[in-house]
Amino acid sequence: MSSPYPRYSWPEGRSSAFAFSVDVDAESPYLWGLPEGTPPLLGQMEQRLFGPRTGIWRLLDLLNRYGIKGSFFVPGLVAQNHPALLPAIAEAGHEIGLHGYFHEIVADTPTAEFVRALDASLALFKAQAGVVPRGFRSPAWEMTPEMLAELAARGLYDSSLMGFDHPYTIDGVTEVPVQWAVDDAIYFKFTGGGADRWHPAAQNGVLDAWLDEWTVLAREGGLLMLTVHDWISGRAGRIRMLERLLDAITATPGVWLATVGEIAAHHAASPNREHFVTRSQPPLPSAPRRFKAGH
Ligand SMILES: [Zn+2]
Repeated sequence: MSSPYPRYSWPEGRSSAFAFSVDVDAESPYLWGLPEGTPPLLGQMEQRLFGPRTGIWRLLDLLNRYGIKGSFFVPGLVAQNHPALLPAIAEAGHEIGLHGYFHEIVADTPTAEFVRALDASLALFKAQAGVVPRGFRSPAWEMTPEMLAELAARGLYDSSLMGFDHPYTIDGVTEVPVQWAVDDAIYFKFTGGGADRWHPAAQNGVLDAWLDEWTVLAREGGLLMLTVHDWISGRAGRIRMLERLLDAITATPGVWLATVGEIAAHHAASPNREHFVTRSQPPLPSAPRRFKAGH
C-alpha cells in the first residue's frame, strides 16, 4: 500500500522544511475571555505581560543567534498595547502575520466581526510598522468556510489547520499547517488558580517528543511548524530547550529553514498546489446517524 499523494516537493532540492512561528498572545486571550466590566486579575496579567516585557526579546535573540527568520502572528490589541513590538520584529527581518484583533475565538465570533478584526489589524500594522501581512493564523486554530472565503478575497494564506503535515490548498487558500503536538501551550501553559489541572510538563520529555517528530518529518519530506508563545516559551528553561531543538534541526541535511510566508509562496508557485487540494464545500461528510431501534 502506498499513499495516493506524491511526496511534497521543496525548493532547490531541499528535502524537508522547518518554520519557527510565534503566536504573540500576551494578555489578549485572557482579556477576550473576561466578562464585560470585570477588572483583570493581577496574577494572570503579570504572568502574561512577561511576554512583551521579556519573553519576546529572548525569542528574538534566540532566532538571531541561529540566523533563523521567524513568523510572528500578533493580535491587534497586543500591537496596540505594546507599540515597540511590531517595529522590532520587522526590523530584525521576521515575518508579521495576523492573529485576530482581540484574539477572537471562532465559535463566539460572527463572520462580520471576524472581518472587522482582520481589517482593523491590517490598518494598524501598516500604520505602526509599515507592514502588510500576507498571512493569518486563527486564534485557537479553528476556521469556518466563510472565514476562508474572506482570506481568499484578501489574498492571504492561512496557518491554522492540520489536514496534512506540509502545505496544501483548501477552498483556494494556501494552508501552511500547524500541529498541536508541536505547540508549547499544550505542555507548558499553566496559570494557576485551578484553571489548569496539571503542572507544566518537564522540558526534556517534550524535547524528546519534538525531536522524534522532526526525525520522521525530515525523513518523510514534511514540514515541522513549531509554534511557541511569548509568555510561555520566553521562560529561561524553555529557551534552553529550544536551543537544543534548533541545534538538531539546523544540523539536518537538506532542511529548508523558512518563514511561513516563504513556505506559502513556494506552495502557491509550485506543482504542489495541483496535488494537495481540498475543499470545505460541498460540506464535509455529515455526522454519522445512530442506528434506530429495530434496524
Ligand atoms: Zn493565540
